[in-house]
Parts: sequence; C-alpha cells; structure tokens
Amino acid sequence: MSSPPISSLPQGVAAASEIAELRFEQLFEDAAAMSIQGYLADGTVVYWNRASENIYGYSAAEAMGGNLLDLIIPDELRTRVAGAVRWMFENEQGIPPSRMNLRHKQGHLVPVYSSHTVVSIDGQAPVMFCMDTDMSVLAKAEEELRIAATAFDSQQGMLITDRLGVILRVNPSFTMTTGYTEAEAVGQSPRLLSSDRHPSEFWSAMWQSLHTVGSWQAEVWNKRKNGEIYADWVIINAVRDAQGEVTHFVGTLTDISQRKEAEGKIIRLAFYDALTNLPNRRLMQDRLHQAISASQRNGSCGALLCLDIDNFKILNDSVGHDIGDLLLQKVAQRLTENMRDCDTVARFGGDTFLVMLEDLGADPVLAAAKAELIAQKLLKVLRQPYPLPDQDYQGTVSMGITLLGAPEDSAETLIKRVELAMYQAKAAGRNTLRFFDSQMQAVVSARATLEISLRAAIAQEQLLLYYQAQVDQDGQVIGSEALVRWQDPRRGLVQPGEFIPLAEETGLILPLGLWVLETACHQLAQWAGQAELAHLTLAVNVSALQFHQDDFAEQVLAVLERTGAKAERLKLELTESLLVSNVEGVIAKMKLLKASGVGFALDDFGTGYSSLSYLKRLPLDQLKIDLGFVQNVLVDADDAAIAKMIIALADSLGLEVIAEGVETGAQLEYLAGLGCRHFQGYLFSQALPIQSFEALVRSN
Ligand code: C2E
Ligand code: MG
Ligand code: MG
Repeated sequence: MSSPPISSLPQGVAAASEIAELRFEQLFEDAAAMSIQGYLADGTVVYWNRASENIYGYSAAEAMGGNLLDLIIPDELRTRVAGAVRWMFENEQGIPPSRMNLRHKQGHLVPVYSSHTVVSIDGQAPVMFCMDTDMSVLAKAEEELRIAATAFDSQQGMLITDRLGVILRVNPSFTMTTGYTEAEAVGQSPRLLSSDRHPSEFWSAMWQSLHTVGSWQAEVWNKRKNGEIYADWVIINAVRDAQGEVTHFVGTLTDISQRKEAEGKIIRLAFYDALTNLPNRRLMQDRLHQAISASQRNGSCGALLCLDIDNFKILNDSVGHDIGDLLLQKVAQRLTENMRDCDTVARFGGDTFLVMLEDLGADPVLAAAKAELIAQKLLKVLRQPYPLPDQDYQGTVSMGITLLGAPEDSAETLIKRVELAMYQAKAAGRNTLRFFDSQMQAVVSARATLEISLRAAIAQEQLLLYYQAQVDQDGQVIGSEALVRWQDPRRGLVQPGEFIPLAEETGLILPLGLWVLETACHQLAQWAGQAELAHLTLAVNVSALQFHQDDFAEQVLAVLERTGAKAERLKLELTESLLVSNVEGVIAKMKLLKASGVGFALDDFGTGYSSLSYLKRLPLDQLKIDLGFVQNVLVDADDAAIAKMIIALADSLGLEVIAEGVETGAQLEYLAGLGCRHFQGYLFSQALPIQSFEALVRSN
C-alpha cells in the first residue's frame, strides 16, 4: 500500500498546476532509493512514500497518523530529534543533512543520509519533509574497505601489482622486511626482490599456476635492499574483474628466516655434536648409508676410519673434563683441517671419531693403500703436541680402518668392524692403525666375553700373583716384582697382556689394582716374619688411572696399615703415561707416600713420553730400563746408546737403575759394564708362583 497522493495532503498543500503536481507525485512515490516522509510539527506522519516502506519496514497505512519519534527514531536520539524538529518548524528551514542510524520496524538500525526541508505555504500547516537515502550498501562497502585497509597494514608484507606485474602498492611491513619504501617499489617489478637462487622454471611454474588456478604459494629466497638473502613464504592471488579477466595480483610475503633459523638449530642439535660441531653418530650413519649406495652405483671404493684417543680417560679423570673437552675440540679441528671437503669427519661419542673417505678408486687394494696413507698422515698430525692451558699434551690415537665397497655391508656392520679394528690397534700398543679382516671378528667378540668374565674373575678371586726375582750384581735376590695372573677355570692361566689393557679401558683396573696391592702387602707382612725373606722388597705395578684416583695415597696407606707391611719394602712401579697430565698432583701424591717410606720405580723407562724437567722433580728411587732396550743392547747401537744414557741419567739424578728382561749372560755383562747394578729377567728367573719364588730365594 502506498501513501495518499500529494493532492490529498492536508488542506492548503496544493500544487500550482495539475500536471506539475502529478509529475511530482509520481517522482516522490517512485524515488526508489530515497525514502520521503512528511511530518507535522507534532511529529504526526502525513506522507510516507514507497521507498520508506522498504527502508523502514512500515507500510504507508501503518505509518500514516503515527508519530515520527515512535516509528523510526531510536530511543537515544529521541530528545535530539525532537529538539531538531522543533527548531526546524520555528525557523521554517531544515537542519543540514547528516548521516544517522534510524530504526527499522524490526528493531535493527538503518544507516541513512537524511536531508530535511520545511514546506510552509501561507495559511497551511507547515510540513517537514525528510528525505533519507539508504546507506546500508555504502556502509558495508566502507566497512570492507576499512577491513581491507587494516589487513593491508598487517604484519605480513603485501604488494599489489597490475596484471603485468608492475607494483602499484606495498604496505609498511613490506618496507620493513625488504628495506624498499613504497616510493622505491611502486612502478617496479617484484623481481626487485629476486635473489637469483631460483631457476627460471621456478618462475614459469608460478605464472602457470597464477593463470590457471589463480593462486600460487611457495618458499622463496628473496633479497633485501641491503643485499641480505632471506626466506619468504609467498602467497600470490590473482584478482579478477566481473568478466573474469585478471586485473591485479595481490602478494603476501611472510619472512620465515627466523623460523628457518630455528629449524636449522634443531637440525644442528639433532645431527651435530655440540662440543666439536662435527656431524654426530646419527648423521654419520646416514652419510654412510648414502656412501654405500653411491659406491655401489659408481663402483668406487671408500673407507671408514675409526680413531680413538689413547689414554683419554686418564687425562679426563686426572685434569678434569674441561681440559678433556678442549682436547677433543682440538683433535676435531685437526681432523677437519687435514681432510678433503668431500670426506666426512664425525664424533662418534666420547673420544672416538669416525672419518669416511670416498672415491678411493675401483681397485680395493689400491683403495686400501690410499686409505692407509691418509690414516698414517692423520696419526702423525694427531700426535703433534696439543697446547693445553697448563701444559702441552702429547697424545696419540689408535685407528681402525675398513673398506666400503661390498654390497652386502650395512652401515652398522661397517661401524662394528672399524671399531674392532681400532681395538686391535689399541691392543697392539696404541698409536698405530689396523685394518679390519674377518678373523678379527672372532677376536673382538671374544673381547666382549672377556670383559664379562674378567669382572667375574675379580669377584670370584680367580686372580693370583706371580713373583719375579730382582737381583743385584752378585746374583743375590734382593726383591721381586709382583705380576698378576688370571687363573681362568676354562682357559687356564691368562697372562696380564691379555687383560690389563681391557681392565684399563673399562675401569676394572681399579678393583684389580687394589686387590694386587692388598695381596702384595700381605705377602710382605708374611715375609717380615721369616729371616731369609724379611729383606725382600716387593714392586707393584700401578696403572695411571689407578694412581690418578684422588684418594690413591690414602688407599695405599690404609692397605699398609691393614696388612702391617713395612712401607720401606714396598715399591710402586709407575709408567711414563702417568705424566701426561696433572704432574703437580702426581708429585704431591708421590711425596705423601714417600714420606711414609714407600719407594717408586719408573717402569718401561725410555719408551714413553718423559720430560727431564719433570723427572728431576719426581721423588723417584729407581729407573727401570725397558726390556726392549735390554734385549737389543748387543745388536742395536741405538738401543745400547739409550741404555747407556739411562744409566748415566740415573746416576746423575742419584737414582738406582734396574735392567728388566735380561735373558743372556752377555746382556748382563754388557749392562754391568755400563754401571747397572740391578737386574731382572729370565736369566735369573721367570715370574713364579709364591712357593717356587720363596724356594728360589731360600736356595739362592
Ligand atoms: P712390566 O711391569 O714391564 O713387567 C715386566 C714384564 O716382562 C712381565 O710380563 C715379565 O714376565 C716380563 N719379563 C720379565 N723378564 C723377562 C725376560 O727376560 N724376557 C721377556 N721376554 N719377558 C720378561 P708380564 O708378567 O706378562 O706382565 C706384562 C705387563 O703387565 C707388565 O709389564 C705390567 O705392565 C702389566 N702388569 C702385570 N701385573 C700387573 C699388575 O698387577 N698391575 C698392573 N697395573 N699392571 C700389571
Ligand atoms: Mg713392571
Ligand atoms: Mg716394564
């Protein structure tokens, strides 16, 4: 239903001409987008066109005679509107047009742009006309623009280009990440950011996707204005017009360099050793897998090397883990410096490193030779002194080598093999290398069993001491050296060479060494009660690891106390390996024991690393010329010279000297001629069980 014709407006509101009136009537009624309402001064509705029905929901019939304030004015505007209406009638003119939100019949607000005019014709009651344009569509569009503008100012860099890719706009985040201001970017192509890290196919795929799917996203290496290359996550969407033609492209860039950096850190943690920065066990296994398949593909051999620092545990336990760590870093550094870029150096754990050599050629024999050459070079490089804070460290490594080339070998098998080879190198006296061969497998599995049974042996007292005589120049037995044996129920009597190195590696040397000391001291105490044996001294071998225990001196004193042995009859045999670290600590312990009467001999003298300056400061009693020199004095001039020098050195330091391993009368004569006064060796006696040794002394 529509409003009454204007001609039916209250009396006096009459048109000049019928036609004009009809025209206006039509116009008012049909103005689809403009709501026109007429009100009397008290707000009574006298006109309500069709558009008003649409905008405010009241039909003309419902509205007519109703009151403006009740119909479409929200409560909070009532007073203001009432005031404005009053003002307009008083002044006979409309207030300026304005935007306001008026009320729909259903209660929601309708945004309108409202103009007013007061029509007063003489003799007639004035009428206020309101002409309201519905602004809902516009308001919505404005809101969307606001949202778009806010989105454009987001944290992500954004750029808008025309359909040819010319930049039209960029947002502040774009400027922040790329360094290009809007002025610098507009008019340019996004190639401005190109890092040249992506091949042209990458970009053609982008265009392809934009033209077909209308969007594309990818990780892109971009370049900032300052030249820095960084990673962006880029999303591009094509904007199409009503006809479906692409008009613009909108791109967002999310700087993911930090995320990538974090990812990188995680990868480092997972695959690299934190101390040395070398690949870790996991990464090495992975590379090994790859190398195995590569070597099968291209028929070229590779090699795996396993290096383990000799006596590292002693250094670590005696001078502390900080210094130990430092040494590991230096070893890692030397390894990487001396390898080709294509070789992989990894820290396999503890003081063990793996090195993988690739492309050593198709011939396994030649490949092995090349690997050995490289390994020898490494051995040499790694035994150069390491400058550590307190003193230089003279270290060596033992190395195992195995070839990769056989198709059936897995990474795990190769690692096991090369470790076995490395253990062989250790067993062969360290500072050397060994190739893996299949017989070695058996040896090493035996080694694992050995450790288990050695543990049991200590617990089940299967150890026993043998005694080897030490004589003076007249052949009189003046003492003996206690040498441990293992009476294994299955294998019989086992020599220390077969289990002492293992005991040192595993730490079993500590309980073993204490047992030896205790047993030896018991023996000394027993001899003390027998006239023909009371004068005998007893030398006990002490491993470096054992001596480096903090309470070693206290242990010895406690054993002496417990057993009642005389400290003056006990001689501890130390080796030069003890002196690779913490010399001050060693001296302090020696002095403490020395003060109680305990004597010291330096075993295997001349084979290890000694510095004369330390030698002078150690409270030693005796140097033991290593049997290697003794046995060669008559055949090797160098060894003779060394023996001679040791005797002279001992003399000048005021030390006794004893030659061990004397097997022939000629050796004895020669050494005696050089001034050596004490001897030990098969010429006089082998190491014997206690009864045989005592019998030997009694018959002497
Ligand atoms: P070592 O302390 O240098 O002992 C000397 C080794 O040379 C002994 O071997 C001895 O039997 C051997 N020997 C003595 N005279 C001759 C000779 O004329 N010719 C030859 N060819 N060899 C001779 P053994 O008993 O097999 O001991 C080997 C090594 O085991 C010892 O070398 C020592 O380093 C270690 N060891 C033995 N018992 C103990 C122990 O109770 N504790 C520790 N920590 N190490 C021990
Ligand atoms: Mg010895
Ligand atoms: Mg010796």
